[in-house]
Amino acid sequence: MIKACYPGSFDPITNGHMDIIARASRLFDEVYVVIMHNPRKQCIFTEEERVSLIERSVKAAGFDNVKVLAGTGLSVDFAQSLGCKVMIRGIRAVSDYEFELQQATANMELNHEVETVFFIARPNFSFLASSVVKEIAEYGGDIDGMVPDVIKDEVMDKMKDFQTL
Ligand code: ADP
Repeated sequence: MIKACYPGSFDPITNGHMDIIARASRLFDEVYVVIMHNPRKQCIFTEEERVSLIERSVKAAGFDNVKVLAGTGLSVDFAQSLGCKVMIRGIRAVSDYEFELQQATANMELNHEVETVFFIARPNFSFLASSVVKEIAEYGGDIDGMVPDVIKDEVMDKMKDFQTL
């Protein structure tokens, strides 16, 4: 049984993340989507909101071997504590590659039991980032096809409120 962990901020989850989860859920027996606490990232959605958004998206997509949770500390250690041998990350462009290479190399030194596996973004999602979704939604633009349908209204509402803050 091979378990994999997909750590990230997911602020909010996008269809790009969902595509990685779908592909990982076909490859591994169990996939944990983990919202990692990152003090350097100022998230707009609370941790509880992000967990709920992912849970609803995963349920609507019918992935029955995917679990959602929040984690703290080093993602590679958190992955190991869940019994995961694999940590999943996505790569959209060369800009992602440089950062991800650095992280994966550091994680390799920190923990010899967990292997980072990269998924290349599907071309139609390679431009898609949580920050793009937030910016479009903030100005009332159309985020159809960018986030799962079941969470679209909540993302729009949150960003509408955000603009008036
Ligand atoms: P983090 O703050 O850890 O980078 P993100 O939620 O931004 O968290 O992303 C989590 C992972 O998913 C990262 O490896 C990122 O490169 C990848 N990712 C984000 N958007 C996409 C996308 N559209 N297609 C493929 N991978 C993606």
